[in-house]
Amino acid sequence: MPLIERRDQDFLLHEVFSVSEFSKHEKFADFNKKTCDMIITEARNLAIKEILPTNKLADKENGHPEAVKLENGQVKVPPSFHKPYKLFCDGQWLAMCDDPEFGGQGMPHLLAMAAGEYFTSANCSFMMYPGLTHGCGNILATFGTEKQKQLYVKNIFTGKWGGTMCLTEAVAGSDVGALETVAIDQGDGTYKIKGNKIFISGGDSDLVENMVHPVLARIEGAPAGTKGISLFLVPKYRVNDDGSMGEFNDVETVGIEEKMGIHGNATCTLAFGSKDNCIGELIGEPNKGMKYMFLMMNEARQGVAMQGLGFATASYCNAIQYAKERIQGPNLMKAVLEGDLTGVPIIQHPDVRRMLMSMKAYVEGCRFLVYYLNSCFDKATVTDSDDEKTKWEGLIEILTPIAKSYCTDKAVEVASTGIQVYGGYGFIEEYPQAQHYRDAKITAIYEGTNGIQAMDLLGRKLGMRKGKPIMDLMGEVNATVAKAREAGLEKIADSLQAALNKLGEVAMTLGAAAMSEKALDAFASATPFLEVAGDLVMAWAWAERAAAAKKAIEGAKKKDVPFYEGQIATAKYFYEQLLPTAVGKMDSVKNLTGAIMEIPEEAFVG
Ligand SMILES: Cc1cc2nc3c(=O)[nH]c(=O)nc-3n(C[C@H](O)[C@H](O)[C@H](O)COP(=O)(O)OP(=O)(O)OC[C@H]3O[C@@H](n4cnc5c(N)ncnc54)[C@H](O)[C@@H]3O)c2cc1C
Repeated sequence: MPLIERRDQDFLLHEVFSVSEFSKHEKFADFNKKTCDMIITEARNLAIKEILPTNKLADKENGHPEAVKLENGQVKVPPSFHKPYKLFCDGQWLAMCDDPEFGGQGMPHLLAMAAGEYFTSANCSFMMYPGLTHGCGNILATFGTEKQKQLYVKNIFTGKWGGTMCLTEAVAGSDVGALETVAIDQGDGTYKIKGNKIFISGGDSDLVENMVHPVLARIEGAPAGTKGISLFLVPKYRVNDDGSMGEFNDVETVGIEEKMGIHGNATCTLAFGSKDNCIGELIGEPNKGMKYMFLMMNEARQGVAMQGLGFATASYCNAIQYAKERIQGPNLMKAVLEGDLTGVPIIQHPDVRRMLMSMKAYVEGCRFLVYYLNSCFDKATVTDSDDEKTKWEGLIEILTPIAKSYCTDKAVEVASTGIQVYGGYGFIEEYPQAQHYRDAKITAIYEGTNGIQAMDLLGRKLGMRKGKPIMDLMGEVNATVAKAREAGLEKIADSLQAALNKLGEVAMTLGAAAMSEKALDAFASATPFLEVAGDLVMAWAWAERAAAAKKAIEGAKKKDVPFYEGQIATAKYFYEQLLPTAVGKMDSVKNLTGAIMEIPEEAFVG
């Protein structure tokens, strides 16, 4: 079964982003081209041979031997997950970018992203266990005390212990500040934790010996809202000073959810301290929990963008294979001109070809976006200049909500088209496409819904540091305009420049409205604004891709020519068919409709 087009990954890694250039810096000295290629090959093998076969199995509903189960308070993951999990941990894939002292591999983010794309495309539900575990370890490695680091981080980064993120409660979803879990100071540096968290991904699992929960809670008497939230380290089994595991810490899994998709991942309700015996310790300082948790949330948002890409990629690769094999109906031209009614593979039908083209445009465009975003971490690491570092960090800030929302919305769209390519078989569960569609939907919801991401972009990121990150993003796009011109892609360069200017106007209009009496109208347009910002990023991606392909096609090996031609043709399609619609939409966003907030609530009659 196909998974990812390796040729496209190699193109981005080496010809667009020059990943091995990072090896000039001592931190990444081990990661030359040969090593990078070897790592990707290893990741691909593990993903295809061991992880991918578990995806369909884990999709089964309750009662099936492979369904996630809760037995006597213990979550049992699909049995088929155990072998790949062990191989994954043994191969040190859990902490690819982290400090080798704690079990990491210290590799560039860009490379880790490419490897991670294989794992996530193969089985996202499976990958959520180590993914959240990593985020939990990263919080402790960054904000934990020396003792917390020594006791926990290596066990987490090696996958011996699992990790979660515990924000959501019944009354606190998007509004985290409303949470009711309390922490009662014991006067000995520890706190008693009391409260229920819901929807906790991988909240418990039999893959690991212990679970470590970073829990948001309010210390008794702390201010209301997000200002009074602290972050606590709460293990399922207490950890003794010598690192051995102690007694049960009164963290109970009291339920697992029945869901629309990602069936292989246990979505748990966790009760902390129902027997008044749950002990947590502070991570960092009191009342700064949201700041610390944002580290994990940003990592998770970037990870969810990758999940979106993974679902879209998997659906797209299946669709290509199916369209080349499924015979149905004659070739239109041959039927009309020669009367030849022989059935042909459906990829020859213009409408099927159009569907595949639009899938390709968004899948590969989103791949550019998430790879670029990850390369910003590496650029921030290797630079000696503070200004440069600030620039790359600002780009990460502004691109995170765009990547999270755009890649996940497109994932649902692409997965839907992926069903359409299969016709009726796409709707049948025996075939793989329906699962990708069901699984993909959650990515637009968790980690801050896409609506919340849009508000973050408009309300926080746009005006951040007097607009420096958005200006830097525009600077990056402008550099690509010049590159496209140099490559002789005049039409693309002109269109990209015009679209960029228009987006700048929309941003100015919406940004100003957001700080005026028209704020509600501005926020009613936050989602379409994020969508057109994402469209602009796609245009940027296709200009970069086309310029690199144009350069490489001269003197390319014969076997590579169709790939480069495909890049140039898809750029042409994007600029001729998709970008004009996006530019039209920019106008409509700029018009700042008042209709959405004018309509009285009573007019919505359900
Ligand atoms: C399968 C699954 C796994 C999850 N995993 C985790 C996990 O591991 N850890 C964890 O802590 N949580 C987890 N969650 C919770 C998830 O992050 C929340 O469901 C999500 O943040 C939305 O909260 P909510 O469901 O309460 O929806 P609500 O907050 O009630 O939102 C309902 C709708 O209102 C909109 N909305 C809400 N407030 C505003 C506002 N101020 N302005 C504009 N629109 C608004 C939302 O965008 C949404 O469309 C998971 C959820 C699911 C379903």
